[in-house]
Amino acid sequence: MITFLLSALCLLAVAQAGPSAAQDTHSAQRTRMVAEIVAMARETGRATGRPSLSEAVLRAMGTVPRHRFVPGPREVLAYKNQSLPIGEGQTISQPFLVALMTDLLDPRPADTVLEVGTGSGYQAAVLAELVARVYTIEIVEPLGRRAKQLLEELGYRNVEVRIGDGYNGWPEAAPFDLIVVTAAPEEVPKPLIDQLKLGGRMVIPAGGSSDLQYLLLVEKQPDGTLTTKRTLPVRFVPLRRDR
Ligand code: SAH
Repeated sequence: MITFLLSALCLLAVAQAGPSAAQDTHSAQRTRMVAEIVAMARETGRATGRPSLSEAVLRAMGTVPRHRFVPGPREVLAYKNQSLPIGEGQTISQPFLVALMTDLLDPRPADTVLEVGTGSGYQAAVLAELVARVYTIEIVEPLGRRAKQLLEELGYRNVEVRIGDGYNGWPEAAPFDLIVVTAAPEEVPKPLIDQLKLGGRMVIPAGGSSDLQYLLLVEKQPDGTLTTKRTLPVRFVPLRRDR
C-alpha cells in the first residue's frame, strides 16, 4: 500500500514537473531571444532611429509564448531570431522585426491598433500586451481561423480577428491610433491612410519594387499631412488582393 502511495505521489510529482519545466525552458529561451533583439536593435540603430527599444516592448516580447504560434515540428525553432513557415505559404515574422515594428509604433496603453496580415497571430498578441484593443485582418481563411482560436485559448480578449482583404482596412472600427501592415503592398494603401487618426502612426513594408522593400514609418501630422521615414530594407510576403 505504502509503495503504491509513494509511486502515485512520484507520478504526481513528475506530472507537475512536466509543464512547469517546459515553461522554464521557454522562458529561458525568451530571455535569450530578447537579448538577441537588443543586440540587433543596437546594430541597426542608425538606419532605424531606434538603437534601443522600449522596456515595455521588450517585456511584451519576453512574455508572449511564441512557440504556441509556430505550428508543427518547427515549434522547437520558435525562439530563434528568424522567420518561420506557418503553412499556406506564409511566415511568422522574425522576432527582431516584430519588436522593431512594435517599437516604431510607440504604442500607448489606451491605443486602438489595426493589423493587416494576422498570419499566426503572434504580432497581434505582442500588441495586445501593450494597447487597449487590436483589430487584425487575415486574407487566408484557415490562418485567420487558427489565429483566432489560439488567441482566445491564450486569453487575449482584446483582439478581434476578421477574415478578408485588409487593403480596405476595417471601416467600422476606424479611425485607428496605429496601423501595422505585415505584408508588402507596392504602395501604401489609401484606405489605410484614411483610417489613421490625426497624429497616428503606421508601420508598413513598401516603397520599392517587389524585390526591394523598405520598412516605412508613416506619420499623419495633426494637420493631416504625411511624413514618411524609410528604415531597413526588408522582405515580407506580398499583400494580396481579393478579386
Ligand atoms: N503578422 C504575422 C505575420 C504575417 S505574414 C504574424 O505575426 O505571424 C503576412 C500575412 O499577411 C500572411 O498570413 C498573409 O496571408 C496575409 N495577407 C496577405 N495579403 C493580405 C491582405 N490583403 N489582407 C489581409 N492579410 C493579408
